[in-house]
Amino acid sequence: MKILVMNCGSSSLKYQLIDMKDESVLAKGLCERIGIEGSTLTHTPAGGEKYKVQKPMPSHKEGIQMVMDALVDKDHGVIQSVDEISAIGHRVVHGGTYYSESVVVDENVKKAIRDCFDLAPLHNPANLMGIEACEAAMPGKPNVAVFDTAFGMSMEEKAYLYALPYEYYEKYKIRRYGFHGTSHTFVSGETIKFGGLDPKNAKVIVCHLGNGASVSASIGGKCVDTSMGLTPLEGLIMGTRSGDIDPAIVQFICNHEKISVDEMLNILNKKSGVLGMSNGISSDFRDIDEAAEKGDAHARAALDAYALRVAKYVGAYAAAMNGIDAISFTAGVGENDKNMRKKICAYLGFLGVKIDDERNNVRGENRLISTDDSKVKVFLMPTNEELAIARDTLRLTQ
Ligand code: AMP
Repeated sequence: MKILVMNCGSSSLKYQLIDMKDESVLAKGLCERIGIEGSTLTHTPAGGEKYKVQKPMPSHKEGIQMVMDALVDKDHGVIQSVDEISAIGHRVVHGGTYYSESVVVDENVKKAIRDCFDLAPLHNPANLMGIEACEAAMPGKPNVAVFDTAFGMSMEEKAYLYALPYEYYEKYKIRRYGFHGTSHTFVSGETIKFGGLDPKNAKVIVCHLGNGASVSASIGGKCVDTSMGLTPLEGLIMGTRSGDIDPAIVQFICNHEKISVDEMLNILNKKSGVLGMSNGISSDFRDIDEAAEKGDAHARAALDAYALRVAKYVGAYAAAMNGIDAISFTAGVGENDKNMRKKICAYLGFLGVKIDDERNNVRGENRLISTDDSKVKVFLMPTNEELAIARDTLRLTQ
């Protein structure tokens, strides 16, 4: 079975075609500038050269048609006919309280995704557009929605309720949902398998440290707590997002700078995080690392604060689960930045965490990076959200 995995943004569309026989990626690519002048498709067949097509894509529908044309193209394609695609798996950011797992799309599912537009105004409309464009382009083929929020739905009330008047939960479903759920599910599951841990009771912390960043605590793969909240703004310091702050700061800055709450939220989402703390150096950790090495005090402060915040969450989650069996690092920073992994783990000696420098000198592969006598196993565990989406799609449509 071949599964097409789609991740639609408002003006972009990322895809992978995965052969589930051996879980290999047959081709992947990206449509950019959908609905804007200069739309481009970049298609890369496995082991082949990148192939670019510039053609107007007024909507996702034309984008998906171009993806299908590229997949069957006689020079750059990887399949003979679109009929070889058995199903399409879609990343959908918000499933609200409707879905705690992936689901085959029907009219009710589309209505629920629409009902959550308010909660994810940038993502859910684009995700739904992608689903409807696939339905139109490949009629009769099953589409599966894989929700970023599904993992967090197993949190108990004590973890998901905010200490706000209860009426806001009742009226608007204001609660903590958590995001990066597909990655947390995948990495906690792989950690249990790779680490030979008890599948039902293993207490695992996943540090998903990418441009967006979140930590999760799970027991036997079921989420106990996770650091993102109603939106992906809560929790860790990220590339451009502030993570946790005193909410009164919003009012203070709005009043003093004479800006609106919307403008302030834009600052918290796009101009804060390590970008803001480093006084504008970059949101990319490679640039921050380089500046810190050259002695830039702001860059150093940003890295120190970043590591401290992650460590504080790990400590809190150790308490929430009454212990930890394993910690896994994943995503761009987690998979590539050995110094950051070491800096975070340096706070965790009180839990019996010991990092082995030689084992930690690695990037992008499944690896135990703690010493043999470390009380908690620490892993480097690359995430693969596309594969996780494809596996769910296969399971639900087989
Ligand atoms: P992701 O969102 O998972 O794609 O992660 C992207 C982020 O990973 C980038 O913004 C970088 O900050 C970070 N990153 C990627 N490679 C490295 C590296 N070699 N060292 C440090 N950070 C890295």
